[in-house]
Amino acid sequence: MTKPKVGIFSLTCCEGCQIEILDLEDVLLDIVDKVEIVSFRLAKGKNINDNFDIAFLEGSVSTKEDMERTMDIRKKSRVLVALGSCACTGGVQAVKNFQNKKSVEKAVFGARMPDIEHVDPAPISKYVDVDYHIRGCPIDNNEFVEILKQLLLGVKPYQREWAVCVECRAKENVCLLEKGKICLGPISYSGCDAVCPSNGLECIGCRGIMDDSNIKAYVKMLKEKKHSISSIKDAFTTIYGENKRQSEVK
Ligand code: SF4
Ligand code: SF4
Ligand code: SF4
Repeated sequence: MTKPKVGIFSLTCCEGCQIEILDLEDVLLDIVDKVEIVSFRLAKGKNINDNFDIAFLEGSVSTKEDMERTMDIRKKSRVLVALGSCACTGGVQAVKNFQNKKSVEKAVFGARMPDIEHVDPAPISKYVDVDYHIRGCPIDNNEFVEILKQLLLGVKPYQREWAVCVECRAKENVCLLEKGKICLGPISYSGCDAVCPSNGLECIGCRGIMDDSNIKAYVKMLKEKKHSISSIKDAFTTIYGENKRQSEVK
């Protein structure tokens, strides 16, 4: 029987999500037994001249080359999964969109890579249709296995689409909003077991701002708690910029 062809690809990013997959060790051997891994740069070299039953794409679209690769991979893949925060939201690279882009590019790339054609860092969904998301920075590799299994079984993958507050309240944490902090838990996708607020840190929305969240009402509530608009804007862009909804933060 022909095995389904799987590709795991990277755009601009730290490749930490691929490392999480490599970290699966024994499970990875079982996976390799069930699928044909056609492309997986960190483990098996690059082959993008094939077609794929399932493609996992990590990284944000930050250069013209990323843009072209994303569109090419989409064309060649039956199912496309955005892998990790960079691919799902633009990730840490998207912070550049709120800074002086030219000076950031000069500081990071300097004269060493003058030929890179930069574009505003963005999630892959800005350029192509995305079938499923595996959120997180880095991803939870158990979620990767869960989604891969469901795809191989022909079952619609279960997406963790509830707010961080749900998991945080289940752990009976004292709410950081009550301590005068700005926590993005009410409007952020969870699935991380509310790891940050459980350790006293504000959620910065690394898994992405929920599509159906009411940012306007959330910002209003923060203002009523006497937070300044500049500190609210900072909270939205501290590490992960969810660009498409920034205009709602005012
Ligand atoms: S989501 Fe985080 S860990 Fe994954 S590639 Fe992006 S920066 Fe690296
Ligand atoms: S600490 Fe954050 S995640 Fe937890 S309940 Fe409060 S707002 Fe929600
Ligand atoms: S609590 Fe928020 S910032 Fe922390 S891992 Fe979860 S989604 Fe990311």
